[in-house]
Amino acid sequence: MGKEFVRFQCHHCNHCCTEVVCLPTPWDVLRIVRGTGADPFRFLEFLRPDEICEVEADDPTWLDVNGAKYIMALRRTADGCFFLDKATRFCAVYKHRPILCRLYPFVIEENARGEFLGFSLHKDVGCPRHRDGRVPVAPLHALYLDDQGHQAEYQALVRAFNEVRQPGKRPEDFIETFLETDAVARACLQRAGRNARPA
Ligand code: SF4
Ligand code: SF4
Repeated sequence: MGKEFVRFQCHHCNHCCTEVVCLPTPWDVLRIVRGTGADPFRFLEFLRPDEICEVEADDPTWLDVNGAKYIMALRRTADGCFFLDKATRFCAVYKHRPILCRLYPFVIEENARGEFLGFSLHKDVGCPRHRDGRVPVAPLHALYLDDQGHQAEYQALVRAFNEVRQPGKRPEDFIETFLETDAVARACLQRAGRNARPA
């Protein structure tokens, strides 16, 4: 297997879509909006530090809203992720889902020099990690690099947002900072009969 394949097959137990909080990047959000016309003001939520323990206190994607911290996440309902179809128990935005969802439960393996070795299955996740399949490593690596490539830009967006202090500032205002740069996503929202921002 090594560098070319990792032994795994998803058995659709739904653990990752019900028990795991997904933290999308702005580019994940825009891809979902473009592909589905879904309203980001409905499918996102902003969690406070006491609502999510997996994110380090110094993570650079914490939003600062006049001194209060929030992080952008896919909204969860009593049934799990906002996009988990209640009837089929499959992802309703599968083709457009966030990169984190695509990489779960894989973890990258690198040597001490930071050189890519391959992927293995993350040990600290609730996935049953069935080994009866073969997943090609190259597309996983491309996804990983794509995600990493956006991190600096994501952090720059957060820094700019965090510098603004004004009465009435809300964490949802962060959505505007990247939605307003994407005419295609805004057009998709308009076609779906949604305003870019709720009243
Ligand atoms: S976006 Fe889809 S794959 Fe990702 S957690 Fe939600 S339902 Fe699961
Ligand atoms: S936890 Fe693992 S087996 Fe279950 S749905 Fe997610 S990826 Fe598939």
